[in-house]
Amino acid sequence: MPEPIYLDHAATTPVREEVFAAMQPFFGPRFGNPSSVHRWGRDARTALDEARERVARCLGAAPDEVVFTSCGTEGDNMALIGVWRARRGEHRPAAVSTPIEHKAVLGALHQIAKEGGEERLLAVAPTGRVEEASFDALVRDDAAVCSVMWVNNEIGTLQDVAALAARAKARGVVFHTDAVQAFGKVDVDARRVPFDLASISGHKIGAPKGIGALFIRRGTPMEPLLFGGSQDRGRRPGTENVAMAVGLACAAELAIEEREAECARLATLRDRLESAILARVPDAIVHGRGAPRAPHVTNVSAPGTESESMLIALDLRGIACSAGSACQSGSIDPSHVLEAIGVSRELANAAIRFSLGALTTEAAVDRAADVYATLVEKARRLAPA
Ligand code: PLP
Repeated sequence: MPEPIYLDHAATTPVREEVFAAMQPFFGPRFGNPSSVHRWGRDARTALDEARERVARCLGAAPDEVVFTSCGTEGDNMALIGVWRARRGEHRPAAVSTPIEHKAVLGALHQIAKEGGEERLLAVAPTGRVEEASFDALVRDDAAVCSVMWVNNEIGTLQDVAALAARAKARGVVFHTDAVQAFGKVDVDARRVPFDLASISGHKIGAPKGIGALFIRRGTPMEPLLFGGSQDRGRRPGTENVAMAVGLACAAELAIEEREAECARLATLRDRLESAILARVPDAIVHGRGAPRAPHVTNVSAPGTESESMLIALDLRGIACSAGSACQSGSIDPSHVLEAIGVSRELANAAIRFSLGALTTEAAVDRAADVYATLVEKARRLAPA
């Protein structure tokens, strides 16, 4: 069998060699605890401070506006729950988001509802964009926090975060964006875009799983989710993971350096993949096509096919992709994202997400399109009339 092809970069990415090399000393001689006063501690502290400065620069932030987290999920939880709890007593019971968010945001919203808050979901258009009228109706002066993801992880569509953040803030509503799929694809710069909080995750950009960062603009109300020591000025107690922070800094800098060229390369490859699929399966639907999209995700449904069996057949032929977000694989529920943008259950049940990245080449997308189209033709031949 030819080399297997990895087209699941939105689920996770391989750790970059440069990142691995940058982290290695911290699994060896530079093992100190950054809170210790002796030389090992001071060395770890220096490395951690430098990593924070580098991540801050990548986000257009000051170092004290960056909190290292264990993952994107933690950043999302901290942003929503931390702000909502900090604003209890301000008569702003509502937390607002969209139905197409990652479960990390939707789960945080449910937790807020369990704690007595009001959970509100904005309407989204078939393009995946938030409906303006719904935003105006729901993001009011009785809301504490609003969270809208920058790039959708299942269909790649982009939101106008700058405009939404400005409108939320005009009503006194703290604005968070889940930038986990956006960082390295769009310019996530706190000097240019007025979001109050933004979460990123290392494993989507060539750092290991288990590290992320949350940007918290100075002055944003925030209650910690963890209680303990005074690390990170009490916002996130727990001994800091120095190696991972250094890895995230390295990956973030590389992602920014390469962003323009890599986005252009990925957009060309994505268009090539979509054209090749549509040439052989002309009735296939590419979700969100025509809407502004990040270049690394394409989500396709061929009527008369079924995601689960397609995924297995693709994997058997060496093509690794996904039916939606990875946390949903194994579940037979159709994607909540496709459902929210009005895709029929039949088409949602046929969706395959291909996500491109560092490992993706022209030859890889050509073969993936060929295998996919062949499997669609086969599934249709075998389907009962
Ligand atoms: N938000 C989005 C948009 C994601 O795609 C993901 C991961 O798939 C997350 C949040 C969660 O990030 P992590 O896996 O680091 O917890």
